[in-house]
Amino acid sequence: MKAKVSLTIREFFALYPSDEACLTHLFEARFGQGHTCAKCDRAANWYRIKAERAYSCQWCGNHLHPTVGTPFEDSRTSLQLWFYAMYLFTTSRHGVPAKELERQLGVTYKTAWRMGHQIRKHIANVDGEWPLEGVVEIDETYVGGHRKGNMYKGGAHKAVLMGMLERGGQVMTKVVPDNHKTTLEPIIAENVKPGTTINTDEHRSYKNLPALGYGHETVDHGAKEYARGSVHVNSLENFWKHLKGSINGTHMHVSKKHLAKYAKEFEFRFNRRADPSSMLTSLLSSFPRPST
Ligand SMILES: [Zn+2]
Repeated sequence: MKAKVSLTIREFFALYPSDEACLTHLFEARFGQGHTCAKCDRAANWYRIKAERAYSCQWCGNHLHPTVGTPFEDSRTSLQLWFYAMYLFTTSRHGVPAKELERQLGVTYKTAWRMGHQIRKHIANVDGEWPLEGVVEIDETYVGGHRKGNMYKGGAHKAVLMGMLERGGQVMTKVVPDNHKTTLEPIIAENVKPGTTINTDEHRSYKNLPALGYGHETVDHGAKEYARGSVHVNSLENFWKHLKGSINGTHMHVSKKHLAKYAKEFEFRFNRRADPSSMLTSLLSSFPRPST
């Protein structure tokens, strides 16, 4: 079977040749013909209103705006440029810095920066397949700050990033305030299925996992033991290495405030690595449904 790859640029522009095609996509992905009108409460046909980015109810003339509640809502940047920016996020291995968006889209740096953050925020809301099960590697890492070392001291400049990776499956990241047991345990309980075998290093915050109903195997990183047979957290270490390498290589400095979104961006790509062409589809169909 042919390996699945990302959409080519040609395929992208065939799918979304114009702003109108993008708006039609949003309407169909979020509402569609027959969508019940929020005002008159009847299943309706919706007619395109050419003067604005809106559709009108056949019965009462109520307007429906497919961009409301999406990152495009208050933006004057064309929908096709937004879709293309999202496409770039799905084809990059190392993330898309604002400079790159500025250059490729021909928008100002300020607009490019804002678009990048809006897209990451959107990516962070796309759900993965939880709970994790089977064999799950759990580890924390420290990102940011200006000094190397002091790993286990954390420190004011460094943010703690926790990761849980199902071997052969999905990864989930979370920025956490510290690496204490009371912080990590509830997150594990919420996202990892009971009965799962968890692999960690010797960090004492994980000591209580068997009492929570998990199998628990550890490697002793302090004693330079990195794997014992199939017991290791190397898949997660590789994910950290890629994430940090990309942040250092392209974004220069990622503040604590934005780290969660960057991590989610890498998580999103990692979790769809078997079918990259599905990335754009899931980005463009994961908008919240507005309540009105
Ligand atoms: Zn109506």
